[in-house]
Amino acid sequence: MRLTGEALKNVFKRPFTQKYPKVKPIIPEGLRGRVEHDKNKCIYCGVCAKYCPSGAIDVEVGKTWRYDMGRCLFCSQCEEICKYMVRKNAITMVMDFEHAERKKSRLITIHRKPKLEK
Ligand code: SF4
Ligand code: SF4
Repeated sequence: MRLTGEALKNVFKRPFTQKYPKVKPIIPEGLRGRVEHDKNKCIYCGVCAKYCPSGAIDVEVGKTWRYDMGRCLFCSQCEEICKYMVRKNAITMVMDFEHAERKKSRLITIHRKPKLEK
């Protein structure tokens, strides 16, 4: 009887689920959605890769910076290490969260150190 009462009450309530993706959800401030890397600020030191708990970042020191979003935990440790330890601010956690891809390879970002202009 109690269960029927609950069910009847809920018939007249608005659903808790959201009509995503038709209706975009409200994103809470500070969401750690994705790692964004600035290849011009980066010095390709590899410290972020050393501290990344899941091995999502791989750096060939002085040459390339590679990020695999498929392995990322979105913990923001790389952002903090780059900002406070290396003092370069080359990594920012940005708020976009729609990362679905059919191919794993599309989750990988590779940045090469820009060549110095002569
Ligand atoms: S710690 Fe910062 S400067 Fe060093 S490789 Fe990572 S992103 Fe680049
Ligand atoms: S957010 Fe965390 S898991 Fe993702 S790349 Fe940075 S340190 Fe690694």
